[in-house]
Amino acid sequence: MLTPYRPEEYVDFSQPGPRQNMLDALKLVESQLGRSYPLRIGGKKVDTAAKIDSINPALPEQVVGRVAKAGIEEAHAALAAADEAFKTWSRVAPEARARYLLRAAAVIRRRIYEFAAWMVYEESKPWIEAYADACECVDFLEFYAREMMRLGPPQPVTPYPGEENELRYIPLGVGVVIPPWNFPLAIMAGMTSAALVTGNTVVLKPASASPIIAAKFMEVLEEVMLPPGVVNFCPGSGGAMGDALVDSPRTRFIAFTGSREIGTRIFERAAKVHPGQTWLKRTILEMGGKDSIVVTDKADVAAAAEGVVAAAFGFQGQKCSACSRLVVDERVHNALVTLVVERARKLTVGNPTSLENFNMGAVIDKAAFEKINGYIEIGRKEGRLLLGDVRTPSPGYFIPPTIFDDIKPTARLAQEEIFGPVLAIIRGRGLDELLAIANGTEYGLTGAIYSNDRAELERARHEFHVGNLYLNRKCTGALVDVQPFGGFNMSGTDSKAGGRDYLQLFMQGKSITERL
Ligand code: NAP
Repeated sequence: MLTPYRPEEYVDFSQPGPRQNMLDALKLVESQLGRSYPLRIGGKKVDTAAKIDSINPALPEQVVGRVAKAGIEEAHAALAAADEAFKTWSRVAPEARARYLLRAAAVIRRRIYEFAAWMVYEESKPWIEAYADACECVDFLEFYAREMMRLGPPQPVTPYPGEENELRYIPLGVGVVIPPWNFPLAIMAGMTSAALVTGNTVVLKPASASPIIAAKFMEVLEEVMLPPGVVNFCPGSGGAMGDALVDSPRTRFIAFTGSREIGTRIFERAAKVHPGQTWLKRTILEMGGKDSIVVTDKADVAAAAEGVVAAAFGFQGQKCSACSRLVVDERVHNALVTLVVERARKLTVGNPTSLENFNMGAVIDKAAFEKINGYIEIGRKEGRLLLGDVRTPSPGYFIPPTIFDDIKPTARLAQEEIFGPVLAIIRGRGLDELLAIANGTEYGLTGAIYSNDRAELERARHEFHVGNLYLNRKCTGALVDVQPFGGFNMSGTDSKAGGRDYLQLFMQGKSITERL
């Protein structure tokens, strides 16, 4: 009998115990930097001449690790291995499949500081963000294991005289799992574990900026004795071999989390039926966001300022759920903006592997650094800079909290996903206008409203069109099965990761009737 699922608890790094644990873990990881990791195809280690070097964004000359780099040939080999493994894995009992997840969760929980420390190195995640990412990974494994135990037995149907009827969920087949780099453990492991616990086999193509944490997760799957070929580890350039994975007639479904651009590309390509393909591919696509916090004239502005700063600048603004737009009633604008700038100014920015617990680290890579700075240039033309624009002399990709005021709702800063620590402030007057601005993008991922007026909150429940809506709290930090996560419109295919209908996306229902 399992204990009921409950999310892992975070630790407080201002306390000596957790602080020391993190320092020890950072030292351990430092002693393992620069190692090489092969592909895993059908349980075999495969090396390649080409490699991906994963670097520390705060110290770009430091190689965190080096992985073999799959091309199209290896992608096809991985799909073939997954296809072969499906024949046996799909027949393994659901509760037996679930046990692999429970064991993997136990392994990661025992080494949770170490997993967090890898993300501090590979992603420049501040300690608490890295720790939360590892907690979320454990949560997905624990929750999906229990969900499979619930969905594994025959499901209820209406009894009918003279027949024995049942409905059971069966797996789909070979799935391609393509995660982003920004939750390199939680989202990667969440999508992979959902696919495998439902009886599918997987080709896992991690993001090129974060392959090492994925390689570490593969080591865990081996430690818990997952059969060969169930998950095939296939890092490589998405631009070079992603289409081959998506287009293959062996591919039955694609689970993707990433940008709108790549998500829509996969959606289009997956719709085409290739010779030899006997199904319509399923796509589970979680995409970008342009998330707003709305603050009305009836809000507690101090609470709102705290929520805005945490949601805008946590993990350097590199969350799909990050607040990139503060939509504020002009009657509280000055009071709120003063508090937001005051709080943001106090955030410390630095290398979190330097054994200091900074509020913000570096952004993920040079391309992100240049893209975000490009948007800061645009912001200078579209609005008024209130905070930021301090270049650090460090070689790392550091961008301090940056805030622009007087941004128009149609400006690029108000419409395009920047994915960095840049906050656009947009004014309106009255709830109608504030909600129209908040809803006025092509995305619909997260949003929050601060108000102490019950009628306003009730209206927002219905009229604020986002997949994850928060009232009087920040718009980041969803917990598995507490706030099932996923957005509307161009934020994805309306799925809810970490929710009770998620695993069904990886299965199909089979109705069986025997005449008595
Ligand atoms: P991305 O550039 O779209 O990449 C995501 C993944 O797609 C990577 O593994 C990438 O591989 C791969 N890829 C690239 N080109 C491909 C192709 N032609 N075919 C197949 N795969 C391809 O996104 P990202 O920069 O990693 O992540 C940030 C984005 O993810 C943001 O837009 C953010 O909002 C979104 N996100 C959404 C959610 C959500 O739940 N809705 C959660 C987290 C993040 P390479 O790394 O090799 O290019």
